[in-house]
Amino acid sequence: MQYRCWLLRPALKRPNLSAQTNALVERIEFDGNRAVGLTVNIKGISHTIKCNKEIVLSAGAINSPQTLMLSGIGDQDELQRHNIPVVKHLPG
Ligand SMILES: Cc1cc2nc3c(=O)[nH]c(=O)nc-3n(C[C@H](O)[C@H](O)[C@H](O)COP(=O)(O)OP(=O)(O)OC[C@H]3O[C@@H](n4cnc5c(N)ncnc54)[C@H](O)[C@@H]3O)c2cc1C
Repeated sequence: MQYRCWLLRPALKRPNLSAQTNALVERIEFDGNRAVGLTVNIKGISHTIKCNKEIVLSAGAINSPQTLMLSGIGDQDELQRHNIPVVKHLPG
């Protein structure tokens, strides 16, 4: 695992924190309306990571809504055009 961000380095000693670089979030996994995990692509292989409490999505102004749409949250007409199962119709 590589850590490029020196600001994060001191916090990496915490027992309740781990960081994964070079990982592309493909989608957020839902159980009903509740986000319960992530599907992450690392070196071409998809992994599912379960989350116990909460998921903070901070992928930037473009990729945050893109990730939500890939996860089934967005305008249902748009999602259906791309064969993405609708979790929540959220046109805004
Ligand atoms: C040209 C320019 C100049 C700016 N100048 C200033 C300034 O002087 N002062 C200031 O306060 N602000 C400035 N800003 C704004 C500032 O950059 C943003 O407000 C800030 O970076 C937002 O931080 P963020 O963490 O929300 O998103 P980002 O910094 O966009 O970080 C998102 C991260 O998520 C990653 N990511 C995206 N999709 C995925 C995915 N599917 N899986 C895994 N990772 C993913 C990206 O690689 C990126 O590292 C500027 C912005 C621009 C474009």
